[in-house]
This record gives sequence, structure tokens and C-alpha cells, in this order.
Amino acid sequence: MKQFTVTITDNVNQQLLDHLLREDGQEDLCFAIYAPSNGNIRSGAIVAELILPLEGDRVVHGNVGFMPAYFERALQVARKKKAGLAFLHSHPVPGWQGMSQDDIVAETRMAPTVMGATDLPLLGLTAGTDGAWSARFWLKDQAQKRKFERYWCQSVKVLGKGLSITFNDALLKPTFDKEKQLRTISAWGSATQEDLSRLKIGIVGLGSVGSIVAEILARTGISNFVLIDFDLVEEKNLDRLTNVFKDHIGRQKVEVIREAILRSATAPRVTVEACPYSICEKEGYYAALDCDILFSCVDRPWPRQVINFIAYAHLVPVIDGGILVRTNRNNTALAGADWKVQTVGYKRPCLECLGQYKAENATLEQSGMLDDPSYLKGLDKASFINAHENVFAFSSNLASLEVLQMLSLFTQPSGIADVGQQMHHFVIGRMNVITNNCHENCFFLSIVGKGDSTGIEVYGEHKVAEETRKRFINSIASPKESVGFINKIKESLRRFFRNVELY
Ligand SMILES: [Zn+2]
Ligand SMILES: [Zn+2]
Repeated sequence: MKQFTVTITDNVNQQLLDHLLREDGQEDLCFAIYAPSNGNIRSGAIVAELILPLEGDRVVHGNVGFMPAYFERALQVARKKKAGLAFLHSHPVPGWQGMSQDDIVAETRMAPTVMGATDLPLLGLTAGTDGAWSARFWLKDQAQKRKFERYWCQSVKVLGKGLSITFNDALLKPTFDKEKQLRTISAWGSATQEDLSRLKIGIVGLGSVGSIVAEILARTGISNFVLIDFDLVEEKNLDRLTNVFKDHIGRQKVEVIREAILRSATAPRVTVEACPYSICEKEGYYAALDCDILFSCVDRPWPRQVINFIAYAHLVPVIDGGILVRTNRNNTALAGADWKVQTVGYKRPCLECLGQYKAENATLEQSGMLDDPSYLKGLDKASFINAHENVFAFSSNLASLEVLQMLSLFTQPSGIADVGQQMHHFVIGRMNVITNNCHENCFFLSIVGKGDSTGIEVYGEHKVAEETRKRFINSIASPKESVGFINKIKESLRRFFRNVELY
């Protein structure tokens, strides 16, 4: 079933609430434009810009109403900017809001005109007095094309340095397990636990760090996971991957970790989507857009570039980390080991400006050059690329730091959501906090919140991922086995390739 969500930046949110929550306590309204941001099973909107009413555009009399001229003006703005149109109003009570009969009539009337003019569905939003938002899309009825049906959103997210979400209790029921999560709940209370259980978390890359992040999140009570990795378990992974054992060699990492999460999870209801693709492939890219928060546990430049794009264009906060181990000249002793962790996205510096990948290396990887051993020799190791040396204790520390950054972002203890970029130096046992900004002409600042309308396609063909999946299918299906069986496996691999045209 399709899921719906809305994202609002804190700047736009402040402007909206300043207008809608009146000092005289009366309801008010306005229009805004939005950019669509669609994932695999989730459709989203990013509210972009307000279209405030002018003198005489609306009548405020307890129940607020607007003039046709205002609606027409708003439609024109949306059309001109090739954006969707949102209608927003306030209610004099707190929390997630339902709709009055008048609300339903007003939005039902607007829905066909908005679809006709913008090719995108009308988005309705209601603000409560506490700043909580509720939202719904009006989509064409599949059977009767002229009729429009209301689809409630699961959540409305407000993203600043921190991520605050109003959840729709009817669609995302709050849950926790009093017995299994006794100690966790005693640390931050059941309301925080309920909100954590309703997040959808994506882990991109299930290597040493990603597999530990998965284990920590499962124990902490996270309930909705999306796992993205095309790779298979190899013998050399066994010293670093959590919950991965000898008899898993040759299996897909996403499936092995999916089973591990279901075993370790403490939440009452857990869903894990296993996506055996690279985030640089269409299937992986859209699976990532289904998530509220992403963990970037990859060390390659191309996936990092794609993840960076998602963080800014689609406003999905990303927790990223990297480990760099240095050995002495003869490679016989450890000279240094440092690991960095950072949350990137809106109002924070991006992975490219932080030096976590180089754009030219992303291009090289896309072209296949980075998988050419003769080319690799000449690469600068300090760029945290192809630094294969690693020790389980280093990854464990980094994985824990990454989850801590996510908890700061979402639970904002004492109001602190951003702890900065942290760098831990193993040799001297010290952690530094680094303050950085994006370069003035950073490309990613120009696409903030543009969602699907950037006009840029960041995914493409990924030869290594394709070959790995082929290898996997060949390894499990001997020539004697039926064609039907092979097709079944292929079908499960294709599960993530769906038509993403939504409206
Ligand atoms: Zn209302
Ligand atoms: Zn930047």
C-alpha cells in the first residue's frame, strides 16, 4: 500500500506558523507550493514557498474562507513554477487534526482544478495550536476518474538542525514492549520510544559499520528498516561483520542482516525491506527515498555522492562515517587510526565540502575506472577511499557514534540536535569536534528541497552490482534446477523495480 509524507524546513515552518496561528485565536489559511519527492512505496511533498493572502483575499470570521481570486493566483504561481499546490489552515486545538465537513467540502472542490492545472495532487495541511501538522493528498479515484479520494499522510516532518515529526496515530500506531525495553524506556520515556518505533531508517552498505548499526538500532527499538546493499558475504568479512557467520558465505548481505534484525529486535512489530541493489541504481535510490533518516555506511565515492544528493534535494538527513587506518612504511605496525562521523543535510555542511568524497572520483567510479586495479594504485589514500584496513573495535566505536548522532538529531536531548562533525584519534585517545561549512558555491546548496524537480538523474548502470547479482543467482541455481525457481529469485530481486509514477 502506498504511504504518504510531507517535509517542511524549519524556516518555512516558522513563516507558516507566524501566519496561521493568530494572536486572536481565530483560524487562518494560506496557499503554498510544494515539490514532489517520491520513493519506492512512499510519496512525499516538500513544502517550498508560501503564497500569502493579500488584502481582501480571505475573510476571517471564526471559520475562515477565501475568495476565488486568491485560489486562481495561487494556481498560477504553482503552474509557473511547475510545482504542486498546498492549501493550509489552522485549528484552535493542539495535535494531529482531523477535518471538519467544511474542510472536506473545500478541499474536495479544489482537488480536480489543482490536478488539472498542475498535474500534481492537491495537498491539504492543518496546523494545531502546538505547531503539530496533519496532511493529506487528494488523488484521482482509480475507478471513477472524476472523483477524488483523500489519502492521509503517515507523518509530517519539520527539518532544521533537528528532525521533528508529527505522526498520524491511525496509520502509524505507537508501540513499545514494556518488558523487553524496560531499561531503554527508563532512559528517555515511552513517548520517545514510541516515536523511535515509527521512524523508517535506511542503512546503505552492510559492511563492518552498517551491520553493527543494524544491531544497535534493532536492540534500541527501531521498527522499520530499509537495507540497501548488492554485495554477498565473503570469508574475509567474518572478522568484522556482526551477526554474519561462516554458513552465510555466498548469501546476500541484505538478507543475512534482515534475519539478524528480526532476531535482535525488541520492538513488537518490525518490518525490514531488503534491497539487493546499489544506491547508485534506480532500485536502491528509490528505496532510500522511502526513509526518514539514512545511514551512509559505504566508503565508495559514487554512492556517497548519490547519498549527498538525497540529503539536500530530498531533505533526508544522512549520518555518515569513515575510518582511516595508517600503517608504518613496511606495513608491519599501526601508525594511526582515525574515524570521523557527521550528520549531513539541510543547514549542515555536505559530504563533498567535508572532503568525504571527491566528485572526480565519483565520476571515475561510475565509468568503471575505480575498479581497475592498475588505476587504483595511484589514488590518494587520505581521501578515505579504498582504505580497507579495519579492526572490529574501530567499526564498533564508529557505528555507536553514528547512532548517537541519529539520536541527537531526532530526540534532541536538552534541545541539542547538532553535535558537529566528530573525529576520534585512536592513538592519542581523543575526540575533536570540527566546525565546517559548505563552500560558498557548493552545488548541493542550490538544490535544497527541490525533490524530484531537480531534473538530475543521479543513478545509473552499476556493472559490479549487476555482476554480483548474476553470480548470486548462478551460485544458488544449478542447471538441474527448474527455470521456475530461477525466475522466482529473479522476481524477488526485481521487487524494488517498480513504476514510480504515482499520480
Ligand atoms: Zn479545518
Ligand atoms: Zn557542500
